[in-house]
Amino acid sequence: MKVARFEHAGRQQLGTVDTAAGTVTAIDVEGPSIDAMVALIERHGAGDRVAVSGAAVSLDEVRLLPPVMRPSKNVICVGKNYREHAEEFTRSGFDSSATPDQQAVPDAPIVFSKAPCSLAGATEDIVVPASLSASVDYEGELGVVIGKRGRAIEPASAYAHVFGYAVINDATVRDLQARHKQWLLGKSLDTFCPMGPWIATADELDPENLELSCWVNGELRQQANTRDLIFDIPTIIATVSASMTLEPGDIIATGTPAGVGIGFDPPKFLGHGDVVRIAISGIGEIENRIVVEPA
Ligand code: MG
Repeated sequence: MKVARFEHAGRQQLGTVDTAAGTVTAIDVEGPSIDAMVALIERHGAGDRVAVSGAAVSLDEVRLLPPVMRPSKNVICVGKNYREHAEEFTRSGFDSSATPDQQAVPDAPIVFSKAPCSLAGATEDIVVPASLSASVDYEGELGVVIGKRGRAIEPASAYAHVFGYAVINDATVRDLQARHKQWLLGKSLDTFCPMGPWIATADELDPENLELSCWVNGELRQQANTRDLIFDIPTIIATVSASMTLEPGDIIATGTPAGVGIGFDPPKFLGHGDVVRIAISGIGEIENRIVVEPA
C-alpha cells in the first residue's frame, strides 16, 4: 500500500495511491489526532488494507503534502552513512564532526536531527532567505517511518517497528552546518526536508536493495543502492531507540550517498530556480525547486 497525505478541493486528506492508474482515493481515519497519518499508522500495520471512501482522484489534481507533519520528535538523521560520501564530506572542509586524524568513516552512527517545521511535500518549493542562500545543498535519502512504539529495540526485531519508507531530501545550508558545529540550524530551515511522494508500506519493499538517484536540473548527481549503507536500518533503529522511545510516525533519514554539491571542486551549490529530483525504486520520486527569498 502507498499512503499519501494530499490536498484536494481545499481539503487535506489521507489516501491510498494507485501508481499504475495515477490516482489517489481518500481514506477515513476515525478519532481525533494531531496528525491523521500518525493515527492511521497507530491503527494499521504495514500489511493491513484500509477502508477507502470516495472516488479515485487523479494525482495531477491534488497537492501532495509531507506524509507525516507532526512526528513526536524531530526528524532523526544519520550523517556520513555511505563510504564515498563520508570521504567527500570530510574532504570538503564543511565537516564539523571531522576528527583530527580525518577519519572519514565513523565508528558509530552520527545522529542529528531536523525540526519538523522543515517538512515539505513532494513538489513544494525549498525556500531559503537570500542571506542564507550561498551554500544550499541537497542530500537524497531513504526515509524510514516508524510503525510501532519501542525502546531499546534489538536489531533482530527492528523491522517489525517499521511502517514504511519514503524519499527524503535532507537539504542543508553548509555554511550554517559548519559555523554552528551542531548541525541543527543548517538542517532545519522551513521547507528543508521535502518528503514523499507518499509512504510505501514495509510489506512492499526490500529496504536493503533500493536504487536511489538524484538529479539537479536533469543532471544525475547521486546514484547508489541502500545495500551500501555503512550502518543498516536495524543498527540505526537499535542505536536511536537505546536513547529514546520511538513512536508511530517518527521519521529517520538514513543518510546520503556520494555526489552532493560539496563533493565537487569547486562545490556545486543550489541557486534560485534549480530543481532537485530524487527517486527511489519501489517508492517514487520527489521534485523540489529552490526559491531564494529576497532580503
Ligand atoms: Mg543527510
